[in-house]
Amino acid sequence: MAWTQGAFTYSFEPVGACVMCGSSGARVLGRRLNRHQGLRPRHRRAVATTVVQCRECQLIYADPRPVPEQVAAHYDTSPEGYWGAAYFTEDSGYFEPQMQAFRRLWHVGSTPRALDVGAGIGKAMDVLARHGFDVHGLEPSRSFYDRAISRGISAERLRLATVEDADYERETFDLVSFGAVLEHLQDPAAAIARALRWLAPGGLIHAEVPSARWMMARLLNLAYRMQGLDCVTNLSPMHPPYHLYEFTPASFRRHGQRVGYELVEYELFACQTFLPRRLDALATRVMDATGTGMQLQVWLARAATPHRGLQHGRRLAR
Ligand SMILES: [Zn+2]
Repeated sequence: MAWTQGAFTYSFEPVGACVMCGSSGARVLGRRLNRHQGLRPRHRRAVATTVVQCRECQLIYADPRPVPEQVAAHYDTSPEGYWGAAYFTEDSGYFEPQMQAFRRLWHVGSTPRALDVGAGIGKAMDVLARHGFDVHGLEPSRSFYDRAISRGISAERLRLATVEDADYERETFDLVSFGAVLEHLQDPAAAIARALRWLAPGGLIHAEVPSARWMMARLLNLAYRMQGLDCVTNLSPMHPPYHLYEFTPASFRRHGQRVGYELVEYELFACQTFLPRRLDALATRVMDATGTGMQLQVWLARAATPHRGLQHGRRLAR
């Protein structure tokens, strides 16, 4: 079956097993409309996808999964339209905590080579270069790629390609970074496995993804249930920002056992609550204390690589 919506045509693929841990056990969380749902979605006219959660690793995904005919078309939009104006203001702290974490966890040589997957307009590439990295990037969206080049990113260092299409020599990079990328991919597990091959000995994969345990999503789902609705707010499989997955640390741990990497360290960040200021401060404290922030950051290394990093999680506010 195909469904055409504006410029996009989707087919729907049944998902046999969790893409991360391989388990076929999943429970239905509810339905997700292909548009903004608001607090009272009862009267919205929309197409719904079924959202499920893996019983083994708690990965959240759509089943069946909507597959656009042209994945890149989702992101063939202006950078401003995709990110919003705030993304373009100068932020001196951008990607700095990640730089500190990398230096704490990586102990090989002095000039690390980095690959930023989904480089966007090149903001993280700028920071990496400032920190002395030999930096390369991949960006599949033509409009984002063009903007990065016009901002001064070298065309020799940034390839217009998806992680699925790109190829590098084995063991090329000390850092492969997936910032807000994996949740958009049809098969994030395959992308990690691919990046693992490009990782030099002692190297690290960094990823930032939406957390499947976000408190605000649970509260909104509760509000839907109290209205007798089976709507959920998780994911956005058929509308911007096109999130197909929400992850847990266990998703990475289990996937690592299958393909040969370890979860070295993870952190959860509260990020936005979309609440008034006073409630925002309270909700942020609760999320920090309970590990139910919006964003999950993981550091991965090839299995059996000695690292001095923590084996358990740390939760920090941001
Ligand atoms: Zn799973």
